[in-house]
Amino acid sequence: MTVEEPPPARAAGPEVSPAATAPRPPALSPSRASDFRRCPLLYRFRAVDRLPEPLSRAQVRGTLVHAVLERLFALDPADRTPQAARELLGPCWDDLAAAEPAAAALFTGPQDPQLALWLDSASALLDGYFGLEDPAGVAATAVEARIEATLPAADGATGPVPLRGILDRLDDGPEGLRVVDYKTGRTPGEGYESGVLFQLKFYALAVLLTHGRAPDELRLLYLADGTALTYRPDAGELARFGRLLDAVWTAIRLAAPTGDFRPQPGPACRTCDHTAVCPAWGGTPPPYPGWPGGAA
Ligand code: SF4
Repeated sequence: MTVEEPPPARAAGPEVSPAATAPRPPALSPSRASDFRRCPLLYRFRAVDRLPEPLSRAQVRGTLVHAVLERLFALDPADRTPQAARELLGPCWDDLAAAEPAAAALFTGPQDPQLALWLDSASALLDGYFGLEDPAGVAATAVEARIEATLPAADGATGPVPLRGILDRLDDGPEGLRVVDYKTGRTPGEGYESGVLFQLKFYALAVLLTHGRAPDELRLLYLADGTALTYRPDAGELARFGRLLDAVWTAIRLAAPTGDFRPQPGPACRTCDHTAVCPAWGGTPPPYPGWPGGAA
């Protein structure tokens, strides 16, 4: 991975479709695969039980900034200006608050002075975005698009591995095929890059499986501190990563029939919302609801 920085149309490729919200059977996404590797019980709580987790203002601000950038890329390239982005902020927040009561409840109402400050902080992130690239020159082929792929079963695996994720943006221009992901937090410090690399490899493999070619480049744009991380995947590395995902999915499917997803206390506990129902913290999990869809 190297430290660098970062690209109009919305014609998605055949395997990329607009993101949908209907409940789906479990598949591996970068987040859920990471959950399982950190703590199998956390994976169960999120992917199987789907226990609710409280929203934070930082999370909702990330959602809002992504929504603004999505709408920005629906504009003609020449209209993708910082001013246009700022003007999209209010309407995007109104839509988000209407669609997500839990997000709206983070503020007392439109007159909440905290809301104005929070919107200013979202505007600063958009300024950070324009410091990293000029969207007028970006050849985006998909924006906020669901990507689904199937990793063929390896020897000893329980079956093919369904992969699923949302691409913030896929570009296909003179510089090749490029996946771009926006981050509204700060660049990870030393020792935390592995999680970022895991996500980048996941998307590289998914694009390889759906498009028949690996992205030439994957780029993470950290809007808060104006940093970009670029990763150029290597075929051998992606093959090894595929075997890692295969092992993760095999372990999940083995645990699925009985719900034998064990707690793995560690760093993940610091941010886990489920300590009250976690045996490692003296709690009792809710009855296992069974693998979604019934088949394990
Ligand atoms: S509290 Fe820790 S051990 Fe328990 S589910 Fe959460 S991450 Fe896993």
